[in-house]
Amino acid sequence: METKKWTTEEILSIYNKPLLELVHEAAVVHRKFHDPNKVQISSLISIKTGGCPEDCGYCPQAARYHTEVKMHELLPVHQVKAQALRAKQHGISRVCLGAAWRNVKDGEEFDQVLEMVRTVTKLDMEVCCTLGMLTENQAKRLEEAGLYAYNHNIDSSEDYYKEVISTRGFEDRLETIGNVRKTSITVCSGGIIGMGESVEDRCDMLRILANMYPQPESVPINALVAVEGTPMEDQKPVSIFEMVRMVATTRIVIAATQVRLSAGRTSMSAEGQTLCFLAGANSIFAGDKLLTTPNPDINEDKLLFKELGIVPQAPFEKHPKRNVIEKENANVHAKGENPKWTRPGHKIERNESHRYKGSLKEAASSLKWVDFESKR
Ligand code: SF4
Repeated sequence: METKKWTTEEILSIYNKPLLELVHEAAVVHRKFHDPNKVQISSLISIKTGGCPEDCGYCPQAARYHTEVKMHELLPVHQVKAQALRAKQHGISRVCLGAAWRNVKDGEEFDQVLEMVRTVTKLDMEVCCTLGMLTENQAKRLEEAGLYAYNHNIDSSEDYYKEVISTRGFEDRLETIGNVRKTSITVCSGGIIGMGESVEDRCDMLRILANMYPQPESVPINALVAVEGTPMEDQKPVSIFEMVRMVATTRIVIAATQVRLSAGRTSMSAEGQTLCFLAGANSIFAGDKLLTTPNPDINEDKLLFKELGIVPQAPFEKHPKRNVIEKENANVHAKGENPKWTRPGHKIERNESHRYKGSLKEAASSLKWVDFESKR
């Protein structure tokens, strides 16, 4: 049975309710679909960091923005396994493997990721991947490896997306999510607030997610972490009340999903996070780093959970574990795919100027070097 089709206006009228009424309504919905004293904990492992060819305006991993991010190539499987085991010892049920890629390409690196998925799934942990755009065949190969979830955020409304990214199209994002939906892998898709978008954009993003059929099984709500060197470095942080409104509205319109507090949690007080849990957040990222931006320490989370009487959700509590099909028994094989996907290519002024700023910085440092050399 299809779920209700939401309009942006309906979602706006929820978002703009008096805050306490909104939180109460969300808490009621939350209790119908979830145990309010359970929160799912994920840990993010950046399996390939930096050097990304895309121009996402919020992202320090985009090669063009000259940030302090330390690049590294794809991690070996044994290192990912060791990190996953450490996470498991802390009660973490899901490991999210993130690679700074535009899209998945068949070949050795993707084979290595498939092996990571098999290895971590066999540790009895849920595995999520966020690897960029993905074809149907690649999604099927991940499914065979045992992948539990695939993350592909839509980031913002379709309109505002054009102000954030110019190197890939919004429709490609939807197509990737559609490719994941052709498998039994669950979908994780959400967005970021605080990038300069309007409240209408936030609600329109939620409309797109809420009207997906089926709705995403998890929805990360990120508050922008403005990183120096990115086009959004001067963006003002969102208030905790905006975050609470966003979480509560998501809970009401996508009732069965896991609403995840993602980037931006370091700047929230314990009381602010508690308000988010009351408003329907039931998942967090733990560990001191979220890909490349800071995140609260796991011990702080444990203390807060103890204070609130919250217990971690066990792995596979919401959806069953996938079978792991070993490489040699696979039914779906690599096709050598590296599709081009679209490149809208419109100019985003603040992204362009940051690219330029970065080049100027580099030019200045090389000039200094020339100067020094000439004095010798
Ligand atoms: S968000 Fe992902 S795709 Fe965009 S620049 Fe960063 S790593 Fe690349």
